[in-house]
Amino acid sequence: MCAAVPSITVISGCAIATVDPDGTEYSAGHIVVEGSRIVEVGPGAADPSWRDRADRWVDGKGMLATPGLVNTHHHLYQWITRGYAQDGTLFEWLTSLYPVWAGIDEETVEASASANLGWMALSGTTLTTDHHYVFPRAGGDVLGATINGARKIGLRFHPTRGSMDLGTDSGGLPPQSVVETTDVALAATEAAIARWHDPSPESMLQIAVAPCSSFSVTRELMTGAAEIARAHGARMHTHLCETLDEEAFCLEKYGRKPGEYVEDLGWLGPDVWFAHVVWPTTQDVARFAATGTAVAHCPTSNGRLGSGIAPIADMLAAGVPVGIGVDGSASNESGRMDDELHQALLVARLRSGSTSMSARQVLAMATMGGARVLGRQHDLGSLEVGKLADIALWRVDGVSGIDITDPVCTLVFGTRSPLELLLVGGSPIVEHEQLVHADITDLARRSGAASATLRQRAGR
Ligand SMILES: [Zn+2]
Repeated sequence: MCAAVPSITVISGCAIATVDPDGTEYSAGHIVVEGSRIVEVGPGAADPSWRDRADRWVDGKGMLATPGLVNTHHHLYQWITRGYAQDGTLFEWLTSLYPVWAGIDEETVEASASANLGWMALSGTTLTTDHHYVFPRAGGDVLGATINGARKIGLRFHPTRGSMDLGTDSGGLPPQSVVETTDVALAATEAAIARWHDPSPESMLQIAVAPCSSFSVTRELMTGAAEIARAHGARMHTHLCETLDEEAFCLEKYGRKPGEYVEDLGWLGPDVWFAHVVWPTTQDVARFAATGTAVAHCPTSNGRLGSGIAPIADMLAAGVPVGIGVDGSASNESGRMDDELHQALLVARLRSGSTSMSARQVLAMATMGGARVLGRQHDLGSLEVGKLADIALWRVDGVSGIDITDPVCTLVFGTRSPLELLLVGGSPIVEHEQLVHADITDLARRSGAASATLRQRAGR
């Protein structure tokens, strides 16, 4: 019996932004993929000898190849609760939505996650995390439902087993109907790692541990979750320093600012990443940099909720690892990573001026930065020989960019560029702006029905 021959894909003649440590770019270059990994990247056309061996030869003229985008913060179940509480602050928005989220179950979450992930793939995303923290008692396997969604679309997936155990009865923000007991949450977290976590270099699925936030989780759950994560080599994630309301809550309940509070609980280190970090102290930024603690920057959600503008340029200058995230779709109805690059550039400049953030810094955050945040920097995040072939190929010779000579400028400053091809581990999941493994119209029909079901359950 013959061993399976790995398939070979050649992309030739495209512009390439490799996002390697030197920021190497080619105005016309080539990439060769054999099996799941990149075996050649360089200037000029691919060697003609590849023609005989290639299963697929892509003429990349008029296109830009970048690493696939990495989304570092999300809540997939929220796709079917978009458009609620349009003018609320974070706390107002959450208290309006908790009763709706109490109605989710396996079926509605799978419809929500599938549509959301399909839409993310169409925006150039090859790896996404998900922070799922609502587990209604009668909801079934909602975490498994998100994993099924990712498998269907073909995305590399790092979901988290989130949790909440601090309800209104104990001075927390969420109603008792959406919180678990501490013991149940910890046992389910450990079980999720045992069932799904694959730490291998080729991994398509890794579980992280993610108590939701200081105002919805007890100290016991934070420290217990950290123990479990570190015993199993899983990463740790939570929301932090998102709003000044959160800071006031922490000062009142714990007598500490959010950054001090999590440091007290052992929640700093190269295995930890925080979502948002809009209001860190100078000391927080220094501690994150010193410990390798990472940040997921979510500019659209921060704008939608009026939370503020995160000091990302300062964090990058200090050496904090930073990735970009769309955040849950109930606070970012777009849900697209390409839109998020645009937003990250603009809000950094609104905060600190036109030289504070470049298009290339944004692209690096959204690729290599994200890979580092999720601990995959050795295998993902840049187009280099030996790395996994997670590649986005954008068409930049149409109306979006034909008159812009710099294709990276087109991608980050400009409007949406059509996605010609998206590879995950060398396998196409998007071709010519269409999903390969699912139909976006069908996904939308199912998510629309799930959304109506939730509205009905909540009496809205
Ligand atoms: Zn979030």
